[in-house]
Amino acid sequence: MATDGPPLAVLVSACAMTAIVGLRYLATSGLFAWITSRVRPGHYTGLHGQIRKEIGWSLASAAIYGIPAGVVAWGWQEHGWTRIYTDVHTYPLWWLPASVLAYLLLHDAWFYWTHRWMHEPRVFRIAHAVHHASRPPTAWAAMSFHPIEALTGAVVIPALVLLVPIHVGALGIVLTIMTVMGITNHMGWEMFPRTLVHSRLGRWLITASHHQRHHESYRCNYGLYFRHWDHLCGTDTGLSEAFSSR
Ligand SMILES: [Zn+2]
Ligand SMILES: [Zn+2]
Repeated sequence: MATDGPPLAVLVSACAMTAIVGLRYLATSGLFAWITSRVRPGHYTGLHGQIRKEIGWSLASAAIYGIPAGVVAWGWQEHGWTRIYTDVHTYPLWWLPASVLAYLLLHDAWFYWTHRWMHEPRVFRIAHAVHHASRPPTAWAAMSFHPIEALTGAVVIPALVLLVPIHVGALGIVLTIMTVMGITNHMGWEMFPRTLVHSRLGRWLITASHHQRHHESYRCNYGLYFRHWDHLCGTDTGLSEAFSSR
């Protein structure tokens, strides 16, 4: 790395991260689309044209996510920029689960308010109509965003790792939850048991039944992982009826 000089090394890191995000998207969305074809045969029938667009927008989003992530990963390796740590004893052990929760809560708050902003009619037409063009969304729609929307999502984790300490393994858990929930919330069917979704805990968690309703009704259910912002702001309208009747 020392012979490369910073500009080339940053470029390599950004390209590598773009490739990783793109391949992660293809592998995980592909996996859940395949699972959908097994447990809900014919669920995506007639949606091939839409799915092609979802994949195109998602791969463009991969570059927008990959570039800031690559720059910060390079800064972490070369200059120790981030608060990512590798020795679990750097902070008390309780911080491992607490940091995962903190990241999810912070990401959720950012998402709720930027998402609400993107539903302002003028902003919606420019930045968010792409995401809602998926009717109904599929497992391939997880990263189907206009570049402006992709940018609002892409800065979150790179900004948080500069500010909030997190073990590299806990960060892996955050990224896994982010990836899996982003896909399954758009998958078109509920994978979690009714006993969880309709439980007291379920009242505070977002799964496909909740986000599907956002895609049906638009101006409600704006959250990402949790429902407290929707509850507090009066924007929670409950679960999709199409799902709850199953
Ligand atoms: Zn969505
Ligand atoms: Zn929306």
